[in-house]
Amino acid sequence: MNFELSEKEALLQKKVREFAEEKLLPGVIERDETSSYPIDLYREMVDMGLIGLPYEKEYGGQGGNYLDYAIAVKEISRVDASLGISFSVCTSLYGGSVYNSANEEQKKKFLKPVLEGGALGSFGLTEPNAGSDAGGCVTVAEKKGDHYVLNGAKCFTTNGPLCDYIAVYALTQPELKSKGLSLFLVEKGTPGFTIGKVENKMGIRAAQVSETIFTDCVVPAENLLGKEGDGFKIAMKTLDGGRIGVAAQGLGIAEGAFEIARKYLMKREQFGKPLYKNQYLAFKMAELECVIDQARLMLYKAAMDKSEGRPYSIAAAKAKLLCTNAAMQVTTEAVQMLGGNGFMKDYHVERMMRDAKITQIYEGTNEIQKLIISGALFK
Ligand SMILES: Cc1cc2nc3c(=O)[nH]c(=O)nc-3n(C[C@H](O)[C@H](O)[C@H](O)COP(=O)(O)OP(=O)(O)OC[C@H]3O[C@@H](n4cnc5c(N)ncnc54)[C@H](O)[C@@H]3O)c2cc1C
Repeated sequence: MNFELSEKEALLQKKVREFAEEKLLPGVIERDETSSYPIDLYREMVDMGLIGLPYEKEYGGQGGNYLDYAIAVKEISRVDASLGISFSVCTSLYGGSVYNSANEEQKKKFLKPVLEGGALGSFGLTEPNAGSDAGGCVTVAEKKGDHYVLNGAKCFTTNGPLCDYIAVYALTQPELKSKGLSLFLVEKGTPGFTIGKVENKMGIRAAQVSETIFTDCVVPAENLLGKEGDGFKIAMKTLDGGRIGVAAQGLGIAEGAFEIARKYLMKREQFGKPLYKNQYLAFKMAELECVIDQARLMLYKAAMDKSEGRPYSIAAAKAKLLCTNAAMQVTTEAVQMLGGNGFMKDYHVERMMRDAKITQIYEGTNEIQKLIISGALFK
């Protein structure tokens, strides 16, 4: 068992870290304040091959694996967690929905533009009355000849306002509830597909999150992905992979805040010595280092389990729980260790603390991760 990154993985980490520090860092505070999404920077990430990392080349991917993907999301999120989640949604929620269900022709048609073409994908599962209980969706898709007619609304759709494609889950047989859920691919510009309220958020403010609305929206029958009634299973499988992305986002936030705090404690002097020479603070950092290392090991295990074809749902839930709790703990402590400066926007950690919070909520709250982990214990 080797716990070190390979030379190739270490190189990828270095390349993405340099990109994030050179290109993402300069405008990150302004983007947070103005809630503006940097599509040009996102497209640079596409050009670097990041979005398609874990997929085969014939679908516009890079032929890498989920560990490569986790490393890249982590490094982007160390600096800009908004771009980290936008990336993760395109690769694992949109990409995963299509990859886990589509036939060859659909995969080429709907994956390539997002994985290598710079188009944005999104994932529409959550509805106002179907959050943790995703099986409670009421959006419907009625078959009429060679097409389906979608009616309903999704909420909190990340990338929603800018998306070119949405993987949307709707009921083809409402009486079967979650067993009647099916997956459809809807393209931007399809009549009846509109964007509703764009959310004003506590964190990941540069990411764009909105309602996505379907009103008599006519979708060709060939845009059904998988079979009718497969939707819930596809969504759950896709979310297992998505959780590796959110875990990587959380770990990146934790690592980024830790590094800012470490440098600050070495530079800032009080009582005639650098802050780190107070054992309280040095021990606090030792504890946080252990929290981060433990989260990282779990994330890399989940990513390798998925990449090598082993069951990974439980490992992904554990990684999501550990990494996102690490993000919240490390960022909160970092704000405290930076004192008054920690509360100021210029020092980044207050933004990271706000960004960390959502990682404990989306793609299954951390309570839901505990349900998954404990459910496997008492089968
Ligand atoms: C910024 C943002 C972006 C998002 N992006 C997307 C997206 O792109 N696509 C998408 O489909 N969805 C998205 N979501 C939705 C997100 O996944 C849900 O908000 C999340 O799953 C929780 O659902 P809810 O908000 O309805 O909370 P609820 O389900 O109402 O939960 C409220 C509280 O009750 C707890 N709870 C619920 N059930 C249980 C239980 N059985 N046991 C113990 N505790 C429980 C929860 O953990 C939570 O603390 C996003 C949400 C946000 C805020």
